[in-house]
Amino acid sequence: LKANFSVVQDENEEMNGFITVLSDVTEQEKVEQERREFVSNVSHELRTPLTTMRSYIEALTDGAWQDKEIAPRFLDVTQNETDRMIRLVNDLLQLSKMERKQDTGLFKEKVDFVPFFDHIIDRFEMNRDENMNHQRELSKQHLYVWIDKDKITQVLDNVISNAIKYSPEGGTITFQAQPVNKHLQVSISDQGLGMPSDTVDKIFDRFYRVDKARSREMGGTGLGLAIAREIIEAHHGQIWAKSQEGKGTTVFFTLPLISQKRRRRK
Ligand code: ADP
Repeated sequence: LKANFSVVQDENEEMNGFITVLSDVTEQEKVEQERREFVSNVSHELRTPLTTMRSYIEALTDGAWQDKEIAPRFLDVTQNETDRMIRLVNDLLQLSKMERKQDTGLFKEKVDFVPFFDHIIDRFEMNRDENMNHQRELSKQHLYVWIDKDKITQVLDNVISNAIKYSPEGGTITFQAQPVNKHLQVSISDQGLGMPSDTVDKIFDRFYRVDKARSREMGGTGLGLAIAREIIEAHHGQIWAKSQEGKGTTVFFTLPLISQKRRRRK
C-alpha cells in the first residue's frame, strides 16, 4: 500500500489541510513485473534464432558458401530460423490483437459442433503418422455452439498437434465431445510424455514449456496454448489440462451450448 501525503496551504502559506492518497501498488507492481518478464522473454526468444543465424551466415561469408555440400545445409538452417521468428512474431501479434479486442474480434456463427470436430479430425487423419491411432467418442446429439470457426479450428489444431508432438509412436489419441451442464465439453487425450502435476496449469502461460529444448526442436513457439486460452475465454469458455508424467495428457475445454427450445407437440 502506498500513501501520498500532501499539505494544503492557503495563499498566506498557512497550513489548512491534508490530502492523503492511498493506492494499492502491489497490483500495479505485479502488472509491471509481468510486463518486464514478457519483454525479456520475447527478447530472449528472438535472440536465440538471431544468434544462430549470425554464426551460420558468418561461416558462409568466411568461405563455406563455396562448399557445395555445406552451403545448402547452412542456408537451410537460416531459413528454418527465419520461419520460426515469423511464426513467433505472428503469434505475438495475434495475442496482442486478442487482448485488445476480446470479444469483438470474433466472427461468430451457430455451429453444430460434432460434424465440425469430425471434419478437423479427418484432416489430421489424412496426414497422420501410420503408427498413430485415433479414437472418436463424440456425442450423437446436435450440440450447437456460437463460435468463430477459424479461431476454434486454431485451438483444436494447437491442442491436437501438441498431442501428436509430445507422444511416442504407436500411441492413441482420444477425442471426446459431450454436453456437460449446459456446456459442450471437449477433450483430447494422448498417451505421451505427460508432465509433472505442478506444471500442468502453467502450460497455458506465455512461453512456458516443460522442456524448452524439445519444444524448440519441434519448432514450437511456446505460445500455442496461451493463444488457445485467449480464444476460449473470449468465447466464455474454460480450458485446462490433466496430466500424469509418463502416462499422458488430456486437454479439456468448454463452450456454452446454445439452448434448444423444445418443439411443442400440436
Ligand atoms: P509449444 O510451442 O512449446 O508446443 P504450447 O503453448 O503449445 O507451446 O505448449 C506449452 C508446453 O506445454 C509445451 O512446450 C509442452 O512442454 C507442454 N505440452 C503441451 N501439450 C502437451 C502434451 N499433449 N503432452 C505433453 N506436454 C505438453
